[in-house]
Amino acid sequence: MSVPGEGLAKGLAVTLKTMTRRSHTQQYPDVAPELPPRSRGVIGLLAENCTVCMLCARECPDWCIYIDSHKEEVVVPGAARPRQRNVLDRFDIDFSLCMYCGICVEVCPFDALYWSPEFEYAEYDIKDLLHDKDHLGEWMATVPPPPAHDRRGEPAKEETAAARKAAGPAATPRAAGPGPAARSASTPGVRPPRPARPGPPAASAAPPVDSAAPPAASTEPSAQPAEPPEASGATE
Ligand code: SF4
Ligand code: SF4
Repeated sequence: MSVPGEGLAKGLAVTLKTMTRRSHTQQYPDVAPELPPRSRGVIGLLAENCTVCMLCARECPDWCIYIDSHKEEVVVPGAARPRQRNVLDRFDIDFSLCMYCGICVEVCPFDALYWSPEFEYAEYDIKDLLHDKDHLGEWMATVPPPPAHDRRGEPAKEETAAARKAAGPAATPRAAGPGPAARSASTPGVRPPRPARPGPPAASAAPPVDSAAPPAASTEPSAQPAEPPEASGATE
């Protein structure tokens, strides 16, 4: 049997309980959200690093990277001919097509593209989502620094090579390894003798099964019994 007003009291109790509980709602845009460091917000371009290799534009599954360039001659003192280099004229990314897969950032061999966690670039006109070279360059200011190395991970190849170089040629594994040392100890140009191979069994002592073995006869021509061709023809 229900008491009149019981439901109202229960509802007010829930309301009071909720009012005193800490809210978990993120108060965006008053409070900026704390995004993970590897968030994919927008792509920044470091134009100085770009060599116009076109890898990013070719690999982009949405074909939303547009690159134009021209060649320029660079006179190198002492060189027989002037060299040519690509000059970047246009580098646009259409973020209305981009699906933030990150392939372009991954494939760039010259570290010219970076992810920035910045995401507040919504536009009223979809055409304004085409970011040109200068606009992409401005995003570089929002790119976070790279994370620290994992202390338990392997050292970077560049660090290992630099340490080896600083230690001198004796520290290189090739110089310290057994291969070259052993090679230098041996007489150059002289091959080590081959291990002796077991010869074919004697014809008289060999059973019929061994005498018919073809590999022994073919690999040891000196031990092969001389069989005249007419003898074989006579048997046929
Ligand atoms: S993130 Fe993916 S879709 Fe966007 S520009 Fe790069 S490769 Fe193209
Ligand atoms: S892959 Fe890198 S270097 Fe090559 S065109 Fe793209 S941004 Fe430039």
